[in-house]
Amino acid sequence: RKAVYARLRDLPAVTRDGVKIAIHMNAGLLLDLQHLHESGSDGIGLYRTELPFMARSSLPDVAAQTLLYKKIMDQAEGKPVVFRTLDVGGDKVLPYWNPYEEDNPAMGWRSIRITLDRPAVMRHQLRALLRAAAGRELSVMFPMVAEVAELVQARRILDIEIEREAQVGNPLPIRVRVGTMLEVPALALQLDALLPLVDFVSIGTNDLMQFLFAVDRGNPRIAERYDTLAPTMMRFMRYVAAKCREYDVSLSVCGEMAGRPLEAMGLIAVGIRSLSVASPSIGPVKTMVRSLNVEELWSYMETLLDSPDHSLRHKLKNFAHDHGV
Ligand code: PEP
Ligand code: MG
Repeated sequence: RKAVYARLRDLPAVTRDGVKIAIHMNAGLLLDLQHLHESGSDGIGLYRTELPFMARSSLPDVAAQTLLYKKIMDQAEGKPVVFRTLDVGGDKVLPYWNPYEEDNPAMGWRSIRITLDRPAVMRHQLRALLRAAAGRELSVMFPMVAEVAELVQARRILDIEIEREAQVGNPLPIRVRVGTMLEVPALALQLDALLPLVDFVSIGTNDLMQFLFAVDRGNPRIAERYDTLAPTMMRFMRYVAAKCREYDVSLSVCGEMAGRPLEAMGLIAVGIRSLSVASPSIGPVKTMVRSLNVEELWSYMETLLDSPDHSLRHKLKNFAHDHGV
């Protein structure tokens, strides 16, 4: 299998009817970077900066972060890297931060809520990212944004840091692209206000499923209760994809579902053209893409989106089986 995927590396991720699908990789440790080139992925669509924070015994300072982010960009050798700002809290704890007891950590003080409340952490991280990307393009993405005001506030902090770097005469990135994760359903109802303010959006389906269906992502007893291929989820994706097209904002999906070929197939059917997946999924997803006819799938799927079914999984499986996907 490994050899088969190695041969796939240099083949384009294009469907049988000519639709180009970008396949990026999720990463969080320097170690992951080795897979970037061997897998032939288009770049890193999600770099989870909290993973190196979690692996240390104290909060890394600006210099330590700069060094790390620079190494990542160096190793990416010009392929784009989307750096997501610190996404801790919920199920991700920093061993050196005082635990904060909450009844509902998944819905609690986590992610951008922490970094907006503790702006020094955000500022140091953004400063390190700006320094590491001097002379290159930088893509920054904010996690768990629930309302446009949070994005505006985060962006203001970024602008202050850019200004500050310029004032002290430090070289800046040639371009800074700003994006947001879409993992809180409420944000999808603010797209007309949000999309003019961002360069890209990435849907995090792990948290999105959790909040769309009110289902704890870490609870095995309910893990199978709702399906990512539910018509509701597919309609949600179709809506966001259409809005992003309307505003000419790049959209990708970076949650785990994007890495499962059948689910990725459903996402492509409803208009998603960019996926970011764990490295072992790149080969299987690309294989699916290269055997798919999107037009055919969409004409099969369009009418199913309004069905009250629990899931479209079996129908998509049948399609894949009948059409050799
Ligand atoms: C997600 O929620 O889908 C996501 C990509 O972020 P994480 O899994 O790191 O919460
Ligand atoms: Mg998330």
